Amino acid sequence: MKTIFHLDMDAFFVSVERILDPSLQGKPVIVGGDPHGRGVVAACSYEARKFGIHSAMPIANAFRLCPKGIFLHGHHKEYVRYSNAVKNLLEEKFPIVQQASIDEFYCDFTGCQKIYGEPQEFAKKLQQEIMNKFSLPCSIGISSNKSVSKIATDLNKPMGITFVPHGKEKEFLAPLAIERIPGVGKKTFPILKARGFNTIGDLANASQDYLASILGKFGIDLWNRANGFGSDILSLEHERKSISKETTFEEDIVGKTEIEVHLFKLVEKVAQLLRNENLNASTIGIKLRYSDFSTITRAKTIKEPTNDDKIIYQTAVNLFRAVYTRRVGVRLIGIHLSKLEHVSEQEVLFEDEELIRKRMLNAVTKIRDKYGSKIIHIGIVGNK
Ligand SMILES: [Mg+2]
Repeated sequence: MKTIFHLDMDAFFVSVERILDPSLQGKPVIVGGDPHGRGVVAACSYEARKFGIHSAMPIANAFRLCPKGIFLHGHHKEYVRYSNAVKNLLEEKFPIVQQASIDEFYCDFTGCQKIYGEPQEFAKKLQQEIMNKFSLPCSIGISSNKSVSKIATDLNKPMGITFVPHGKEKEFLAPLAIERIPGVGKKTFPILKARGFNTIGDLANASQDYLASILGKFGIDLWNRANGFGSDILSLEHERKSISKETTFEEDIVGKTEIEVHLFKLVEKVAQLLRNENLNASTIGIKLRYSDFSTITRAKTIKEPTNDDKIIYQTAVNLFRAVYTRRVGVRLIGIHLSKLEHVSEQEVLFEDEELIRKRMLNAVTKIRDKYGSKIIHIGIVGNK
């Protein structure tokens, strides 16, 4: 039996914003941009949640619920910086740490008892240390596997610690609502509800075949999770699976060139994120939503993985030009990078034009890190 910690920062973006501007303390804070725009809420404080605001909600709705709230665009670079600081601290304590998202980590505590004592006691100290060092609140769930620990963390926030003893996983889950299981959302929730499933216990008591018959493979996964099973294997490295960014326009756009300029700005952002994390991407995808809400996605996998603005933009814009055939207004454009891998050391060994270009890109990254992303743009728009 293993002991797996799941640590999740509480309202992470908002907590970082409060470090940057302490006057935000105790106020309803919403990160996600212009309250009159058409974006969505990226994060909100617990004070904002009291008004019924939650993440992924259209920001205009959030504004309607809480017009006195403080709406912020957010400081992504700072979020990455604090996330890395927390990760470094966790890596000092645990033999294996797996980063699941910018503010979420799995840590393997197995065998650590001899050094640190009981897991709950250690969790308390760890939570306090993160608070003291970074002024960041977090919650921790502890059980024998990742699935149960994640559900446990979520149950008791902010600054909660939830411990599920070995062998009690199923019992712990049974009374909880089905939507506590990650993946039971807009699509699956109504299907299960209509068939009389209310608690995770209901799912655990159903037959695996029945759940598979209504939900396919996910039904089997659900049955396993409901019965307290889950993976206890942590991947050593944080494997970010994809990076995406999208822009919802204030007003629908019809002009091709204008859309391409927005696409270019998105490419700059995602390429910057790749370089910050020393990653290359192989698959480049775009998303296009028309004013009638019909949505198109296209992707292309390129031979040489890259984090070069120029290559990413050219691939993306070709995809866009191939699909943008309707003369209908566009509401949203997005870019999605996947098949990510770490930049290999060899890549910096050969001295040629490519290398010079890469050096230039690295210099750009450094300048942007210092002075912000607006200061420098690489001249690509206009090239064919
Ligand atoms: Mg969180």
